[in-house]
Amino acid sequence: MAPLNIAIIGSGLSGLSLALALHQQNIPCTIYESHLAPLNIGGAVMLSPNALKILDALGVYERVRAKGYNFETLEYKNGTGELLEVYEFGGKEKYGYEALRIYRTVLIDELLAMLKEKNIAIVFGKKFTKVVAETEKDVTWDFQDGSSQTADILVGADGIHSTVRRYLYPDLVPAFTGMAGITAAVPTAQLKLPPGYHIPVTIMTPSGGFKRMGDGFDRAGWERYMADKDALVAFLQEDASGFPAMVQNAVSHIPHAKINVWPFYVVPKLERWASEKRRVVILGDGAHAIPPSAGQGINQAFEDGYMFALLLGQADKVEMQDALSFWQEYRQERIAKVMWVNRQIDLRRMPKEAQTSGEVIEEIELSWLYLPNFKDDVESWVRGKLEKGN
Ligand SMILES: Cc1cc2nc3c(=O)[nH]c(=O)nc-3n(C[C@H](O)[C@H](O)[C@H](O)COP(=O)(O)OP(=O)(O)OC[C@H]3O[C@@H](n4cnc5c(N)ncnc54)[C@H](O)[C@@H]3O)c2cc1C
Repeated sequence: MAPLNIAIIGSGLSGLSLALALHQQNIPCTIYESHLAPLNIGGAVMLSPNALKILDALGVYERVRAKGYNFETLEYKNGTGELLEVYEFGGKEKYGYEALRIYRTVLIDELLAMLKEKNIAIVFGKKFTKVVAETEKDVTWDFQDGSSQTADILVGADGIHSTVRRYLYPDLVPAFTGMAGITAAVPTAQLKLPPGYHIPVTIMTPSGGFKRMGDGFDRAGWERYMADKDALVAFLQEDASGFPAMVQNAVSHIPHAKINVWPFYVVPKLERWASEKRRVVILGDGAHAIPPSAGQGINQAFEDGYMFALLLGQADKVEMQDALSFWQEYRQERIAKVMWVNRQIDLRRMPKEAQTSGEVIEEIELSWLYLPNFKDDVESWVRGKLEKGN
């Protein structure tokens, strides 16, 4: 018997895309978001073919493709312009899609418009606080405003500091890595790029642009730091003289509204993404915070939700418990491989003298990442289960 009613906590990209994927499987859902409007944490995200294939299947890709920057490779150069490495982020011929860099808010707005067109409910100003009861059939939880709600399944898509996750892991606090990305967007014309210059590009000087922050940079510390826009501009301008002219041009004028701080936290590999009775599930950043090196954080979150919806769509044929175990194993296996890619990219970016771990730089082959076939994989798993008599 298929679960009929799914509640999603969080209207970030995980929650919004999951709602569309469930709708495609004819599974009703409601999203509850603590803020009064969609949270725009700003900046742009880079989407690779694995996620774009999902967005295509959900009817989103065609609506957003022309609203961002389409590209295939990311180049790494040193301060003198020497090309050090080329990293594929997409490829029309090879992977079916160019990569797409798009402002998060543009993507969120489009997803919201689609939810509206499909009459998928989203309730703002509803902050989830705790699960109060879980049975074999359903789950009940509280909101901060004193109201409660019950659904067949509650999905925590509530980000890296997930409150839903506390039901599964009461003591888990994501660890701050001591690093953060401080980013800003400026008009391309401001860079005065030489004709034909390839972007996106990462330019690395010997210091690598790294700066150790002092102690006290816990979550609250970062929130204070993020609020001081002048300090952030000063930080970005500080070492610019060691970089080529285009970087100096880039930081010559930085609008406050275009600055973003992304503190990197890690969530350890979790033993389970679902409660014992399988009525509470976590996904996206709440289940696995992926460091940014391979740019897969949001791409993997799209995979989580899409695959979860495909499996729920088969819930009348297979046991939920088995489907969720398969989902988690499948997802964690891919995420472990993404972590390997991240590490390989970090090794390449690190100054040589800092590479003391003895790890070897290996070739990065990406077809497993960019050419997944989730539908086939789910269907063949279901077929296998049915042949074995479940
Ligand atoms: C500045 C920045 C740049 C980034 N750039 C990239 C990139 O280029 N590529 C990439 O792949 N990844 C990038 N990431 C990471 C990426 O943004 C995350 O992986 C992604 O946002 C995770 O989506 P999510 O929906 O799981 O969580 P979130 O985006 O964090 O959304 C969670 C939502 O849940 C809501 N919520 C939280 N608690 C509650 C509650 N108790 N009740 C109700 N609602 C709640 C929040 O308000 C929020 O709307 C970036 C992150 C940052 C901060």
